[in-house]
Amino acid sequence: MITPDRMTRTTCPYCGVGCTLDLHARDDYIYKVTSPFDAVSNHGNLCVKGRFGYDFVYNRARVLTPLIRVKRQQPGSRAQAFNLDEWRSISWDEALDHITNRLTEISRRSGADSLAFYGCAKATNEDNFLLQKMARALFRTNNIDHCTRLCHAGSVVALQKALGSSAMSNTAAEVIENDVFIITGSNTAETHPIIAIQMKAAVRKYGAKLIVVDPRRIEMVKEATMWLALKPGTDVALFSAMAHVILKEKLYNEAFIRARTQNFEAFAESMEKFTPAFAEEVSGVPVDQIVQAARLYARAKNGAIYWTLGISQSSHGTDNALSIIHLALLTGHIGRRGTGLNPLRGQNNVQGTSDAGVMPWHYPGYQPVDSDVSAEKFEKAWRIESGGLSRRRGLTTTEIISAAATGEVRSLYIMGENPMMSEPNLNHTHELMKELEFIVAQDLFINESGAFADVFLPSCSWAEKDGTFTNTDRRVQRVRKAIEPRGKSRPDWSIICDLAQRIEKHRERNGASAYWGYSHSEEILREMGRLVPEYAGVTYARIETTGLQTPVLDENHPGTPVLFTDTFPSGRATFHPLQYIPSAELVDAEYSLILTTGRVLEHWHGGTMTRHGRLDELYPEALVEVHPGDAARLGVKDGQAVHVASRRGTVCLRARVTDKTTPGVVFIPFFSVEASANTLTIDVLDPYARIPEYKICAVRMTAASEEDLPHPHVKAERGRW
Ligand code: SF4
Repeated sequence: MITPDRMTRTTCPYCGVGCTLDLHARDDYIYKVTSPFDAVSNHGNLCVKGRFGYDFVYNRARVLTPLIRVKRQQPGSRAQAFNLDEWRSISWDEALDHITNRLTEISRRSGADSLAFYGCAKATNEDNFLLQKMARALFRTNNIDHCTRLCHAGSVVALQKALGSSAMSNTAAEVIENDVFIITGSNTAETHPIIAIQMKAAVRKYGAKLIVVDPRRIEMVKEATMWLALKPGTDVALFSAMAHVILKEKLYNEAFIRARTQNFEAFAESMEKFTPAFAEEVSGVPVDQIVQAARLYARAKNGAIYWTLGISQSSHGTDNALSIIHLALLTGHIGRRGTGLNPLRGQNNVQGTSDAGVMPWHYPGYQPVDSDVSAEKFEKAWRIESGGLSRRRGLTTTEIISAAATGEVRSLYIMGENPMMSEPNLNHTHELMKELEFIVAQDLFINESGAFADVFLPSCSWAEKDGTFTNTDRRVQRVRKAIEPRGKSRPDWSIICDLAQRIEKHRERNGASAYWGYSHSEEILREMGRLVPEYAGVTYARIETTGLQTPVLDENHPGTPVLFTDTFPSGRATFHPLQYIPSAELVDAEYSLILTTGRVLEHWHGGTMTRHGRLDELYPEALVEVHPGDAARLGVKDGQAVHVASRRGTVCLRARVTDKTTPGVVFIPFFSVEASANTLTIDVLDPYARIPEYKICAVRMTAASEEDLPHPHVKAERGRW
């Protein structure tokens, strides 16, 4: 019997803008997505992903039953990886019992820290809260992390060091209240398209001045008063030179610095060497542009800075972000509407996943794991014996994979992540994944990492479950079940509850044990709210129509659109003296081009969702962008097949000759498994944030033949269950 059409209001599963979606469904089939005009984050606008990117839910390659690997072999190729002969369909009981036995046995034999867990920034707050609770309360390890480590870790650490809080300070929609704003390291029109619409309105309708600082001629350059086309990896030199100008010309906000900051003198002294002439030499940006940009931002009534991964995905990501933060602290462009430090979060729920404690150094709410005070708080809440929770900081994502080589980590539980696309230096990662003794993948599809798994657990999509996402401007919003879970798939939180109860029973621990009897996702958010003061006042009832921006300190608190109005979490904000350190790998005669990587509008990250739907038809193949001058020098024509090689690997793809990139710089998007950009990237890490250097490595480009190109996307090889 056909049921009447119905509409379910939920939140977009792609980027951190957090657009409101209305899913129109008949029976269990979603046939249309719209958005209400009064939606707070997007006013009815949606980008192509939000509007059309939902059909992956019905892709026939989706795995709808638990699987166990019957033949463990070296998954050295995609054909092997998706060979259905290697898997057997099993029941949920069989799958969860097997995982319980294996994880418990490995933990007993090799120690608590031999297990590691990857959470998922696409999953809900509730899913992620429970995953970290399972890792910590049951297995007593802090080896749990997620993709923020690979995205904004540099920003997070820098903001914590300088302000004591890592969240975006203002609301994205406030951009129309800026009179000058800087976009740096962010291809906003493709990565946060709806915020880009608001930015364009700020310029065109409200007369704001935009300064773009980026090595690529991104779409927002068309709107800009100034474009500072710096060489990749020279951000500290450029932004510190702007600080130098602000200091020399006394454009700083003395009252703000005196009242709300510390360590100004030491910082000012360290800026002496960053003359505009030095910055021009290093970054390639002319002196007069640096001076003009510094004056423009400093003299603004309301200045704001927006950035993404071009700043943070660097072996100097923390310093890069600090160099930006200093500009706001010098000028006092923070703590008021229309100003602020705004790291635009990439994934739909990367803010919430971090808030929920899927971090190796922090419990939920950024409470440090190596502090007795916070450990005791969680021991009490989770009914764990005193001293039972590990005080040892866990390993970060890249460190977890690296620890497979030494045997320190023996088992990996992957909830919705895909390290075999997202880690740097993928050929090396491939070898390390093979070293792991036992891998669980919990996902919708067997992706490149699931191909290594021993057990696959089918989770359901965002459209099939309830929960919450927290968007880039800290707004906690509802995710609602629009259709029944397909096949035997289940919500991540429900899988974890079931597994945790089995593990708890298996361990036969005497005395009280942590609670795992949740019957609905809201119970989980309430527990999170009892432990995380910023979420204390968030309930499903309160966010029924519109989300609330954290901190929400109690059930009467209205939420917090603007942070730091009176004080910083650390009291005073701290300036940090900086040095300019060149990138880890520089060009030379053999590898004469700089590779930088990023996203495109039609695809999301490693493509697990967007490559399983019609969005893939819009952008089916990754291209390497090369500047016309470099193309002429190398004899490369538009559309020609080329090899791009670094010291770590080679990919073959077609060239797009375009002045979107600057001379000496090539760009490859990282959604494509056929030409994985991360085969080329380098796994050197930022010393503080442990984020890899995704944005800069040295490569060479040579002509290839059509036969060298990889086959089109290997979807056909993927199984149908
Ligand atoms: Fe979804 Fe982001 Fe597009 Fe909005 S801008 S529809 S949240 S992908």
